[in-house]
Parts: sequence; C-alpha cells; structure tokens
Amino acid sequence: MTIEKPQLLIVDDSPSNIQVLAQMLSDDYCIKVATDGARCLELAVADPSPDLILLDVDMPGMSGYEVCQQLKAQDKTSAIPVIFITGMVRTEDEVYGFELGAIDYITKPFHPVIVEARIKTHITIKRQSDELKRMAMRDQLTNLYNRHYLMDAASKKMARAKRHSFPLSMIVIDIDLFKNINDKYGHMVGDAVLRDIASLLDGSCRKEDFVARFGGEEFVFILDHCDLADCLNKAEVIRCAVETLNPQGIAVTVSLGVTVLQPDDTDFDCFFNRADAAVYAAKADGRNCVSSSSMDYNPPLLPV
Ligand code: GH3
Ligand code: MG
Ligand code: MG
Repeated sequence: MTIEKPQLLIVDDSPSNIQVLAQMLSDDYCIKVATDGARCLELAVADPSPDLILLDVDMPGMSGYEVCQQLKAQDKTSAIPVIFITGMVRTEDEVYGFELGAIDYITKPFHPVIVEARIKTHITIKRQSDELKRMAMRDQLTNLYNRHYLMDAASKKMARAKRHSFPLSMIVIDIDLFKNINDKYGHMVGDAVLRDIASLLDGSCRKEDFVARFGGEEFVFILDHCDLADCLNKAEVIRCAVETLNPQGIAVTVSLGVTVLQPDDTDFDCFFNRADAAVYAAKADGRNCVSSSSMDYNPPLLPV
C-alpha cells in the first residue's frame, strides 16, 4: 500500500519566507501555499484538506491569530493542526497562540531540522487521530458506517428535517435466510456476501444520504428530502439490484421496510422501530419484497 505524502499548507505574506519553508519540506510533503488569511481559509476547506497548517501571525488584513480563530470555529477545519511560525517572540504572544488552539509555536529565526522534526511529530499524531476517528465510525467488515455513527448522524438529520419541514425517510434492509448461506457455504463466504451487498448499497447511495450496517445482516438507509412514494421506489430499486447481484455466485434476496419521519418521532428508536416492524411484515409476506409501515401517513403538501 502506498502512503500518500501528507498535505501541508504554508501561509505567509512574504513569498521568500514561503520559498524557504517549501524548499525544505517539499521532498516529504505535498505543499500548498497562501499569502493571506482569506486564501488560507479557502484552501483549508478545499479537497484534499491540509493535514497541517504552518501559519504566520503578522500579515496584512487578517492576522494569523484571526485565521486560527476562524479555523477552530468551523466543524470542517477545527481538527486541522495549526503551527504558528512567527517573528513574534514575546511569551504573551506565544501563550495567546496556544489559547487559540494552535498545537505548536515556532519563533523565527528557526532551525530547519527542529521545524522538520516538529512537523513530523504533529503529522504522525494527526494521522493516528484520523485513523481512530475512521475506526470509531466505520464497520470493520464492510467499511460502511457503523451503528454508532448511524444513530448520531440520523438524530441530527431528524432534527434538521423537523426544523425545516422536509421529509426524511428510512429503509431497513435485512438479508433473507442468511443463516442458510452461512450453514451451506461457511462463514467466510457469508462474510464475502455481506461485503458484496454492502458495496452495492454504498454504490446506490446519493451523496446527501447515507447507508450504515446496523448489525449482523441488517442495513439502514437514511434518505434526505425523500417522501414515502420516493422511498418505496428506492427500496424497490435496491431489492431488484440485490436479486440480480448473485454475490459469490449465490442467489440472495432482501426484505425491506420503509418509513417516513413523523412529527411525534422523539428519538431514533421511534423512527427505526416502524421501519423494523415493516421488515417483519415483508418477511411475513414471503420475503424478497418491500413493505411500508402501516403507521405512516403522508401529510398533504397543500392546505385543503
Ligand atoms: P430471515 O430471512 O428471517 O432474516 O432469516 P435469517 O437467516 O437471515 O435471520 P437470522 O436472524 O436467523 O440469522 C441471521 C444470521 O446472520 C445469523 C448470523 O450468524 C449471521 N451473521 C450475522 N453477522 C454476521 C457476520 O458478520 N458474518 C457472517 N458470515 N454471518 C453473520
Ligand atoms: Mg436479521
Ligand atoms: Mg435475515
């Protein structure tokens, strides 16, 4: 496996300062540069996001301190480590830099070897922390989001959907007679079937939605701006796609339960339990089919 070079963003209003740092670091890092705070904030949210920002303090317009404050205030950039690299050597300046959330403060003139060593240490810590975050929200077998992430992210989507009055749907998907597959072909083949189905589900997920492995052979889709009719269509598309997939050369089907968020759904469990009950109804209907919750209603869009 090739490990990509870490992304480093160097911010300094003096191009010659940038050049010194870039020359020193370009062998080991993929370097982007900005000569003012506004450009730094743009590059911080651009893809690929920086693994670390080297930030000058004294710049015209927005100071490095203000830039750091803004980086730390936004969800998307708050976890990017910031190292101040500055001619401001007073203790109170350094203390202020740390108070703003910087992980290090290097004063000029600096010793190149020391700067390289400090950057390397902070990048290692950042990469380890990224990996821990990934592991905390992903399922190990399928690499889909896990149940922990599902409950957290779904609760946030439920709150947003209620606040802005848009429909939010859920599909619970349960593989039919999966125990028989394990019994007949062995657990390893069962695992491979789970991975194949997970990959199909992931591929059929829009960017604004997400799919997670709830546990065992059960998966959950959360669909933004999706009413009951659209959700039923989506579930039927998934059902057909699994039916024709033939993972590991085995005929596999799924039963699906759908539901739409209701005004009195106070938590994730209320929402989930209806979709889960609909899965049971689909199983009772003979499996390989879609069922919607009998407790759902589609509120009229226009006043009557
Ligand atoms: P139904 O159509 O009623 O859902 O039948 P089923 O056999 O799919 O349901 P049941 O709940 O009886 O069995 C689920 C099986 O899923 C049993 C369990 O061993 C298997 N399973 C759960 N997690 C994994 C896993 O990570 N890997 C493998 N290979 N099997 C798993
Ligand atoms: Mg099950
Ligand atoms: Mg099952």
